[in-house]
Amino acid sequence: MPANEYGPLIKPINRILVLVLLALISGCSSIDYREGPIAGLDRMTVEEHYVDGAELYNRCSRCGHLGLELPVACTCINFRLNRAVIWLPHDASQATIEHERAHGRGYDHPNGELRSRYAAWREFVDKSIGLASRPKMLPESGLTRVSDSQ
Ligand SMILES: [Zn+2]
Repeated sequence: MPANEYGPLIKPINRILVLVLLALISGCSSIDYREGPIAGLDRMTVEEHYVDGAELYNRCSRCGHLGLELPVACTCINFRLNRAVIWLPHDASQATIEHERAHGRGYDHPNGELRSRYAAWREFVDKSIGLASRPKMLPESGLTRVSDSQ
């Protein structure tokens, strides 16, 4: 058996480990309160669920591509329905709970990811209004996710 028989198998696994570490390091842990809530997302209907780790991953995956992130928690926001669904583990810290609730009130991370996604969706909707007779051009579901890994 050649010494490098397992090379192709081991290399992708190492790559996955590196990516997971990067995701953990680069994960957000702060809310930008200076900018205030995003206009249009400041009066959402909010639901809050406490689930186990596997279901947390599953639920957070459903409202956006999760890749290799290991979420501590996430908030799935449906722009069209103006609705936020918060997914938390049973042992969520008070800080994590407050963080996700802030997303539910329309607050963003300092990097402005939610604000820019919402702006892009609004622009898409505004353009689509003029094309209402073409069903294919109607807005997408408006679903997005704010994911938090630490
Ligand atoms: Zn967050």
